[in-house]
Amino acid sequence: MANLLRDSEPAGRGGESTARRLRDAFGDRVGRRVPLGALTTFRTGGHAEWLVETSRPDDIVAAVRLTAELGVPLTVLGGGSNVLVGDGGVRGVVLRLRHGAIDCPDADTVRADSGVTLNGLVRWTLHRGLGGLERWAGTPGTVGGAIRGNAHFDGRLLGDIVTAVGLVDRAGAVVRVLAGEMGFGYDDSRVQHTGELVLWAEFRVADGPVATLREAARRSLAFRKRTQPLDQASAGCVFQNPRADDGPLPDGVPRSAGALVERVGLKGYRIGGAVVSHVHGNFVVNEGGASARDVRALIDRCREVVGERFGVVLREELVYLGDFEPEGRNEVE
Ligand SMILES: Cc1cc2nc3c(=O)[nH]c(=O)nc-3n(C[C@H](O)[C@H](O)[C@H](O)COP(=O)(O)OP(=O)(O)OC[C@H]3O[C@@H](n4cnc5c(N)ncnc54)[C@H](O)[C@@H]3O)c2cc1C
Repeated sequence: MANLLRDSEPAGRGGESTARRLRDAFGDRVGRRVPLGALTTFRTGGHAEWLVETSRPDDIVAAVRLTAELGVPLTVLGGGSNVLVGDGGVRGVVLRLRHGAIDCPDADTVRADSGVTLNGLVRWTLHRGLGGLERWAGTPGTVGGAIRGNAHFDGRLLGDIVTAVGLVDRAGAVVRVLAGEMGFGYDDSRVQHTGELVLWAEFRVADGPVATLREAARRSLAFRKRTQPLDQASAGCVFQNPRADDGPLPDGVPRSAGALVERVGLKGYRIGGAVVSHVHGNFVVNEGGASARDVRALIDRCREVVGERFGVVLREELVYLGDFEPEGRNEVE
C-alpha cells in the first residue's frame, strides 16, 4: 500500500497548502495523484487528486472537517466494489477506508467500524458463534459501503439486522442514528440523500451453533460461485431490479434487471474491453483494458435497448465517481 500512496508527481502551486494541511493531519497516509483503478473491483478509472487512507472513525471526522475548511471536495471509498471511477479521475480528496475495530457492546450486538470488510465481520462473528451475518459471506466491500447501499442478497436487506449507525455530516457533526431513522429501502439509505458518511454500524446477533452458521455461510458462497462471474473484474450488479411501480414486465420475465438485459440479447455484447457477462446479465465485466468510458457506454447501451424494447427504465445500482472526461482534460493546476 505504501507504493500506491507514493506521489506520482509533486504538488503544484495550488496544491501546496492542501498538501501541507493533509500531511500535518494524516502524515504518510496521504498520497497525491494516486491511480484508483487498482483500488476498485472494476480495475479501471483515473487518479485521485489526493488519497488519504484510514481505519479510524476519528480520522473520518477530521477529514470531513479539514476538507470543509479548505473547500476541497471529499469522496469516500470503501472496498471499491460498487463504483466506476471516471477516466478523468476524482478531484479533491478520496478518503479510502480500510480495516477498523469490531466489538460487542452487549451480548446481542456487534459493532464494526465502517472500514471493516463485510467478509471480515462475518468471519469474526462465525468464530464467536454469533448468528445473523452469516448469509452475507462473500459480499465484497466494507460495512460503510454496505450501509450506504443497504446491501441485498437472496431477498434480504442488510438494514433488517442493523440496530444503529454512527454518522458524520458534511459539516463534521457526529450523530448516533437508530435503524428506523436510516431510511433503509432497496438499494437505498438516508446517507445517499444527506451526503453523511458512515463511521460505524451495530448489528443484531444471537448465539448459534458454529457448524450451522458456517454451513449457511458456505451455502451463500456456493450460490455466488454458481451465479456470478467471480473470476472477472466487475462491480457486481450494474442496475437495480425494477420495482413493482416501474410498470409491467414482458410475459415470463422476472422482476430482474439481469433477466431483461438477457431477454434483449445483450449477454456477451462488448464495447472495447467491457462485456456484458455471459454468466449474469446484470454484470458488466472488464475483460482487460476496458476504460471507464467503455464500461459506461455499455451500461448506457443496455439501458437504451431495454427501455426501447420493454419501456422499462433501468436505474444504476453502481455509483459513478469522478470525471468521465478523458484524463488530462480536466487538470486542476
Ligand atoms: C462480485 C460482486 C458481488 C456483489 N454482490 C453483491 C450483493 O450480493 N449484494 C449487494 O448489495 N451488493 C453486491 N455487490 C456490490 C458491492 O459489493 C456492495 O454494494 C458493497 O456494499 C459496496 O461496498 P464498498 O465498501 O465496496 O463500497 P464502495 O464501492 O467503495 O462505495 C460505494 C458507494 O458507497 C459510498 N461509501 C463507501 N463507504 C462509505 C461510508 N463509510 N460512508 C458513506 N458512504 C460510503 C461510496 O462513496 C460510494 O458512493 C457485489 C459486488 C461484486 C464485485
